[in-house]
Parts: sequence; structure tokens; C-alpha cells
Amino acid sequence: MTRPELLVSRCGSCTVRYLPRAGPCPHCGASNPVPYPIPSEGVVLAATELLSPSQGWTAPHRLALVELAESVRVLAVVRGPLPEAGGRVAVTRDGEIYLAETDVPTR
Ligand SMILES: [Zn+2]
Repeated sequence: MTRPELLVSRCGSCTVRYLPRAGPCPHCGASNPVPYPIPSEGVVLAATELLSPSQGWTAPHRLALVELAESVRVLAVVRGPLPEAGGRVAVTRDGEIYLAETDVPTR
């Protein structure tokens, strides 16, 4: 079984990796990103639970700041229980929303 991957952007000039977005490289300003796959698994840096989230979101609304490979960080909506800092999650992308699944099997 292949490990799931997440597609990020790699700057063609300075090689910084970042979440795909419109506009130039956030590090050097170059405009030649290349799609770059990284493992979807990451480490939770911080997580929080909103009991009165914005309209359109159900409570409790859980968010996690996740560090992926290549120092790519993403703010993701948590599916499952609130993870603790240092815990592992799997990040997927659904349109413009990143999702963090907390049921990651231990290796
Ligand atoms: Zn760059």
C-alpha cells in the first residue's frame, strides 16, 4: 500500500515548499511553482476547539495547526476528537479546506 500524499508547491527558484495558492512564492517572489508531493501525515503543533464557530460551521469546531514534511504548515479542520500537541494526523484537501484526520495508525 502506498502512503497517501498531499500536493504542495515547490518554488522553482528558491526551492521553498508552500501550500498551493495564487500569486508568487511567499519567500522570494518568483512565479514558477512546481507541484511537489509530500507525505500527508504531520505533527500537531497546536489545536483548539470553538464552541461558537462562524455561521455555517457546526459546534464544536476543531482546528489544528499541523507541521508537514518540508516544514510546510497548514491550519486544518479536525475530523474526530481534539488532538494534542505532538500528536500525529493525516491531512487531506477538500477544495480550499484542509482536513486533519485524527485516526492515524501508529507505526
Ligand atoms: Zn521562492
